[in-house]
Amino acid sequence: MRSEAKTVIIGGGIIGLSIAYNLAKLGESDVVVLEKGYLGNGSTFRCGTGIRQQFNDEANIRMMKRSVELWKGLSEELGMDVEFTQSGYLFLIYEKDELEAFKNNVRLQNRFGVPSRIITPEEAKEIVPPLNTNGVIAAAWNHTDGKANPFKAVFAYAEAAKRLGVEIYEYTEAKDIRVEEGKIKTVVTNRGEIKTGRVINAANAWAPLINKMAGVPIKIPIEPYKHQGVKTEPIKPGQIEPMVISFKHGGVYLTQEAYQGGVIGGYGLKYGPTYDITPTYEFLRGVSYRFSQIIPALKYVNVIRIWGGFYAETPDHNAAIGRINEIDEFYIAAGFSGHGFMLAPAVAEALAEFIVDGKTDKPLDFYDPYRFERGELRGQALQMG
Ligand code: FAD
Repeated sequence: MRSEAKTVIIGGGIIGLSIAYNLAKLGESDVVVLEKGYLGNGSTFRCGTGIRQQFNDEANIRMMKRSVELWKGLSEELGMDVEFTQSGYLFLIYEKDELEAFKNNVRLQNRFGVPSRIITPEEAKEIVPPLNTNGVIAAAWNHTDGKANPFKAVFAYAEAAKRLGVEIYEYTEAKDIRVEEGKIKTVVTNRGEIKTGRVINAANAWAPLINKMAGVPIKIPIEPYKHQGVKTEPIKPGQIEPMVISFKHGGVYLTQEAYQGGVIGGYGLKYGPTYDITPTYEFLRGVSYRFSQIIPALKYVNVIRIWGGFYAETPDHNAAIGRINEIDEFYIAAGFSGHGFMLAPAVAEALAEFIVDGKTDKPLDFYDPYRFERGELRGQALQMG
């Protein structure tokens, strides 16, 4: 293992790896990524694969618009197919007040160039033929949203970063961060020490532990909540192409994988704060029931896998991204709740620009880690599941 590096990134999920890649792309390749398990084992490999621009605030819409632009070219850029497909997101609407809220969101999304629109239940059924439209009065639809394969995206970023000179150490846990007079000196790991002047905390659900190691003096409330996912056996291709969501049915979301053909999804049941991710029978029963309310034919399809993972939640469900002023060259990008996979390309690009150039044209300020300390929470980010 290297004994010295300009930058140490703690966390080998999609966020840490995409930041490593973007730093190296900007010429800062003296980067080491530390991952305490295997790459992606945190939240990233446990995610629901969804990528959407249908948010309810300007910053997340703009970030996600940029992210989708990047997702579109990512397979080519990284030299590995990440299976990104623009199969759309379909929010089912059952109540009049829900419809008003979605109309407002659509207006905002359209202002920033996202082509979402409100459609009829009949149009929704054309998009997803086996959909149960009983009680549905409308749907919010955006055909440029989509999904990608988290396993492939992680390896694609990791391999591309390595080609640019980044070194990645799996099974290497950051145990301590030595800081003297506001300057980072060393990251202590289970495999030795690395001298460094810059640390990026990309540990998501574990980010508060990393902040504590460095003595970050401000309050950044990130808490780990257990959410679960499910996957069924493959069904005939092209049945449920978009991500379909119903808040009325407990925040259920589901989509058919573009390549493997199984139906993947979950719903809003959460436990915590906890670091336990054992799957529960309560979830299996709840998700099966909700899937079959949305797509009745799924009653006859077998579940082949369920799993638990973390939503690393802040009080406004937006991540904390930026520099910690009291510790020279300490940065955080963590607390991504249910939308860190989709945001990674744009967040990593923005943070790398900010670190290397001192500025970015993306709305990074929105995720200011000091907002909690100041009591200036953002509006709750639209969160599914
Ligand atoms: P992680 O992938 O958790 O990576 C952090 C890494 O840090 C971990 O691998 C961990 O092992 C490592 N680490 C921690 N402490 C240390 C240490 N001391 N030393 C070294 N390494 C350390 N997002 C979407 O965008 N779309 C979705 O559809 C979606 N669905 C989801 C469904 C479920 C059921 C869950 C659980 C999450 C979902 N998410 C979704 C959220 C998404 O998975 C996360 O926001 C995203 O993966 C966060 O990436 P990350 O790299 O920040 O975190």
